[in-house]
Amino acid sequence: MDNPHALIIGGSMAGLFAAHLLRTIGWSVDVYERTAGDLAGRGAGLGTSEELFAVMRQIGVVLEPTLRVKVHSHICLDRFGDIACEVPVSHLSSAWDRLYRALKRALPPDCFHAGVGLDTFAQEEHRVTAFFSNGDSARGDLLIAADGVHSVVRQHVLPEIEPRYAGYVAWRGVLVAAEYPAKLKELLSRHMVFCFPEGEQAFSVPLAPADSASSVRVQFVWFRPVDYVNELPELCTDANGIKHGVAIPPPLIRRAVIERLKADAKARLAPQIAELVMRAKQPILQAIYDLESPRMTYGRVAFMGDAAFVARPHVGAGVTKAALDAEALTKALSDSGNDIDVALASYDRLRTAAGKQMVERARYLGSSIGPLLPNSEETRKLRAWRTPEIMMREIGTTAVVDGERIDLS
Ligand SMILES: Cc1cc2nc3c(=O)[nH]c(=O)nc-3n(C[C@H](O)[C@H](O)[C@H](O)COP(=O)(O)OP(=O)(O)OC[C@H]3O[C@@H](n4cnc5c(N)ncnc54)[C@H](O)[C@@H]3O)c2cc1C
Repeated sequence: MDNPHALIIGGSMAGLFAAHLLRTIGWSVDVYERTAGDLAGRGAGLGTSEELFAVMRQIGVVLEPTLRVKVHSHICLDRFGDIACEVPVSHLSSAWDRLYRALKRALPPDCFHAGVGLDTFAQEEHRVTAFFSNGDSARGDLLIAADGVHSVVRQHVLPEIEPRYAGYVAWRGVLVAAEYPAKLKELLSRHMVFCFPEGEQAFSVPLAPADSASSVRVQFVWFRPVDYVNELPELCTDANGIKHGVAIPPPLIRRAVIERLKADAKARLAPQIAELVMRAKQPILQAIYDLESPRMTYGRVAFMGDAAFVARPHVGAGVTKAALDAEALTKALSDSGNDIDVALASYDRLRTAAGKQMVERARYLGSSIGPLLPNSEETRKLRAWRTPEIMMREIGTTAVVDGERIDLS
């Protein structure tokens, strides 16, 4: 087959990895991204892995030194700010905006169609046709669904598969060096700092600077149980009483909600992390979901990244998973001499298993968050056993459990 062609739906991390890697084996690609503007503002902290950087190198992206920040250890603070324990887990942190921009810049601009959303698509035996919201259509040999957790493609072919609310939300915020207290710089810019109020989890993590001339940023993340039926819609109602469902654009979060968050931070968190919540200009609210698909392919459609599986953020590996999905599909196509059906069968087998494993692990890591139900003896036992020290060893992409590094690929 000459120059096979892929239509890639979604121009975020998964879509960009797929576009780059397919081009390395001679495919032509077109990426269609619904959002017209720059996506870089949407991401924040990024747990990384050696596997992720290997894919970046394979693509030919230059990994500037400031793209990575070393995390020297995980430190747990008690309610009064004293160190309760420290574990020597070291790894590299990056930032979503830096990786996204590096990937986007490296792609020829005529491959990327911003502000073009997929409406629907049709399959023949060996071809796929995509129909877009602007009235255009395009034909290709393969359609890659990299359109995220609420994938339009998935809703067409697997409408019964929906994200499942985890029972809690993440509040997060990013502070540049001038915004966090200078006296905390040594602690916050070199370590991941945790505290574990009952049924909740909060941490700060160093973030790669916005560009090579700036200083390390810090992100806080605070997981808090929130009831889906009443409480979450209330948090997502703006100052004019307009209800935004279960997700609200950050600038519309009501002042009273932010004030309540800050008061709770003072009352429940170690003062060093509470300080970040107090100083954050614009806290972001995000409901946490699990998503598990039974398969990664459907005819000439390949799902990738969050469109297929979403693991809770405790594994810090959503972007690594997207990169490894794209790498696996590219390798399967290359190994099969571009026999697309053979390649898709192999991709489906490998990456469905990997996705399920990651979702399961992330669910386990999140099991300490949430109210303790009166008759849940199992949860009580699990929580009693999982001390902060154990949790701090388990959390993250480069987690080490019982001396063994957990393999996320
Ligand atoms: C609180 C939190 C912390 C996280 N921390 C980390 C971390 O430390 N490390 C890590 O690796 N991951 C982390 N993640 C996960 C990570 O952000 C995601 O896994 C990753 O961004 C998924 O990329 P994606 O390209 O699959 O999906 P998305 O980034 O969701 O992109 C999907 C894209 O498709 C577009 N789109 C949707 N529908 C259409 C359509 N019909 N037509 C065209 N385009 C469409 C969207 O506009 C979007 O740009 C975290 C997530 C959360 C919630």
